[in-house]
Order: sequence, then C-alpha cells, then structure tokens
Amino acid sequence: MYVCGPTVSGESHLGHARPYITFDVVYRYFQYLGYKVRYVRNITDAGHFEEEGRAAEDKIAKKAVLEQLEPMELVQKYTNLFHWAFDQFNCLPPSIEPTATGHIVEQIGMIEEIIKAGYGYEVNGSVYFDVKKYAEKYDYGKLSGRVIDDLLETTRNLDGQEEKKNKTDFALWKAAPAEHIMRWKSPWGEGFPGWHIECSAMSSKYLGKQFDIHGGGMDLLFPHHESEIAQSTICNHISPVRYWMHNNMITINGKKMGKSYNNVITLTELFSGNHPLLERKYSPMTIRFFILQTHYRSTLDFSNEALQAAEKGLRRLMDAYEWLKQLAIGNEQSPAKTNTELDEKIQGLLSEFDEFMNDDFSTAKVLANMFELVPVINSLKDKSILIESLPVGTLRLMQEKLKIYLEDILGLKLETLAEEDKLNAVMEVLITLRKEARTKKDWATSDKIRNQLAEAGVLLKDEKDGGMSWTLK
Ligand code: ZN
Repeated sequence: MYVCGPTVSGESHLGHARPYITFDVVYRYFQYLGYKVRYVRNITDAGHFEEEGRAAEDKIAKKAVLEQLEPMELVQKYTNLFHWAFDQFNCLPPSIEPTATGHIVEQIGMIEEIIKAGYGYEVNGSVYFDVKKYAEKYDYGKLSGRVIDDLLETTRNLDGQEEKKNKTDFALWKAAPAEHIMRWKSPWGEGFPGWHIECSAMSSKYLGKQFDIHGGGMDLLFPHHESEIAQSTICNHISPVRYWMHNNMITINGKKMGKSYNNVITLTELFSGNHPLLERKYSPMTIRFFILQTHYRSTLDFSNEALQAAEKGLRRLMDAYEWLKQLAIGNEQSPAKTNTELDEKIQGLLSEFDEFMNDDFSTAKVLANMFELVPVINSLKDKSILIESLPVGTLRLMQEKLKIYLEDILGLKLETLAEEDKLNAVMEVLITLRKEARTKKDWATSDKIRNQLAEAGVLLKDEKDGGMSWTLK
C-alpha cells in the first residue's frame, strides 16, 4: 500500500488527519486479517512547487527563506512535528518512509525513460510530460473522470507556461533559477524534480510495477494521481495501481478549509485549543474517533459542537469497554436461565464487525454496533441484567472482539482518553459554576474561580459571545 505523505514545508493541519488515520485503520485491518502489509508513505521534502508564478517555486525553498532556516533544517523540523502529531493519534509508523530528496536518482531515471519513449520533452532545462500525446493512446482522465478535450480548452493559461506544448502538460523536472537553494545535477542541468514523479518513482521502487492499494485525499485525484498513472504506465507498461482509495475532505462549519477562509487549524492548535475557531482543546483520541465515526468517502464537517458530541460518545464507549475489559469471567459460571434473545442480539452485533469492515472499511457502522452494545454492558455493570444470564462464551467473545476492534483495528487508546476527559469534565463543572456566579452577580466567587485556576496553570478566557474557553499555561 502506498499513501501520499506530507509536504513538510509547514505544519500538518486537520485536513491531514483524515487520510493518515483512515489508512492507518486500513493497514491495521489487513494485518488483523493476516496479510503481511508493506505500507509505504513518503515524505515530500522537495519538488512540491507551485507552478503559478513565472518561475515555479518550490514550497520548501520558499518557506525556508521565510523562516530563515536551511531547507533541510525546515524539512527536519516539520517532519519531527508530523511524526509527533501522528504518534499522538496512535497511527502506526509505515514500513518504509522514503523521502523525495533521497530518490533523485530514481526520479531522473524515470524521466529519462519517459523522454526515450517519446512522452517527455525538454525546454530550457525543464522537462514536461506530453499529456496530449499520451491521451492519443491512453485514457488520461480514467481515474478522475476529467475529459482531455475539456482540459485543453479550459485549463488556465498561466504565466510561465509558455514553455509547455499544451496547457495540460505537467513538469517532470524544473530548471532551478540561480537563487534556488535546493538543486540537483541532471542530464538537463541543475534543477529539482516535479511532485508527481516522486510518488511514481518511490512507489514502483518499493512496491513494484503494479501494487495493490494507493491511497490519498480526494484533492490528490487530479492532477497528482492521474499524472502518476500516466508516468508509470509509460515507464512500466502497466497501470500501476489495482485499487485506488480516496478519502473525502473535511469542512469546517460547512466551509471548505483553506487559507483564504482563514480556517486552517493546525494539529498543535487543535491539541492546545489555541485557535479563534476552537472553544477549547480536543484530545487526539477524540479527533481520531470523530473521523472514524464517518465513512471515509463521505464529507465530514468539523465544528465544536460535533467534536464535543464525539468526545462524550467516546467517553461512554470507553467507560463501558473499560469495565468489560476488567470483568473476570469464571469457567464455573452457573448456567442460570440464558437470555437467548439478548445472547443472539450480542452475537449478531459482534459478527457484523467484520462484515462492515469488509464492505469498504465501514468503521462508522462498526462503531454504531458498538453503541448498541454499550447499554447492554452498562446493564451488566449495574446488574439490571445478570451476567449469569449470558453464556460464558458470549461474554468472552464480546470482551475479545471489542479489544481487537477498539484497540488493534480502530486504534483507540484508553489511557490518554481517560486523563484528557477527566480534565475536560472538571473544567466543564468549573465553567458552569463560574457562569452561575456571574449570572447572580457574585463577582467574588467568579474571580476566585478564575484566579485560583490561573494559579494552577489553567487560563480562563471570556469569549465575546458570552461563552468561556480555557487553555493550559
Ligand atoms: Zn503522491
């Protein structure tokens, strides 16, 4: 399985959480089924350039100048931050994490093959892929559904594109302007590779000419993945991927996430609550659970309300699970009257877990079934249903299946959650008390709560809309 990794020119944001959590579950599920999975996820540390300027700009080089760092210093900083954040999300590391800069030789090799086959051409030290020629023989657009004739018509004619034969052609290699720091020698002069060729080179190097699964966000469908197919098809004479999987996008309060909307929330902001759109911080497990509660191909709208609901739901689920996990089930259980109806219900719900996952990884349906089990577990806990009324085998199966699914497949962690949630619950109580004091104009109590929390390292902030948020000092 190959998944397009992060471009480490900046911090990962909420939008990045979805693909890496989604494919983490895919990775975990295949391992549960007994497959040996080689999971390759790259690090884009060069070449993801924006072609809109007169001279194409490398995102990394541009940001390095801005932050006054060596490009490799910048790359290391954001790679470390990426690893830290996804460790918080309990994502397993991939089997191989290749970098674009570590595979320049392979990328140049592929570009040479493409030129030799007649589908690449050089202009002023840059090399472009001839999309129009490719489309004469192959189906450019077979993945994204784009129609080549429409593309030729409608693609914007941008500055600096006069080198290309057609507007749809994409860069395989870009000549580096004199001031460009990240540059490598190539048969076409000093330059840096295109973004699409990086994934083609690394996926075929580690997974072969054709491999099973290629994943990524829907935003990568075109032109990135469509171009990967074209490049690999020319070099390897076979379509590279058996199954493409794309996760849908995350919206924020119904709006697309983007710099222009001022609603890009980075992962550290999310974990600390330090963003104007956040009422407070959210734990990595809450976010992971929130993402898995929706099928990966559906859109997912992010809001404080939805996250707080997810947090409550997860707490209910994990509380029930924690109790069940600790339950000692004896062998000698006296076979009292078995509650056959309940027994069958539990068995049915559990057996559907695999079915749902086998049907395009429906984590949402698995979680829905778990929420049907929660009241059953709670009834066992408060003894309104007697443990003895269920066969030992069913209790064991429920224990085992929930452990495998919650911990091993969905990757939800117990400990982190308990700590985070306890603190959130305590803060909710204090905020409510303070609000009540203020309503009664009891300023002394209100101030006392705020000041003493500040002493303990918790800062309360009054919001304009009358709400209250908090952060840790
Ligand atoms: Zn990619």
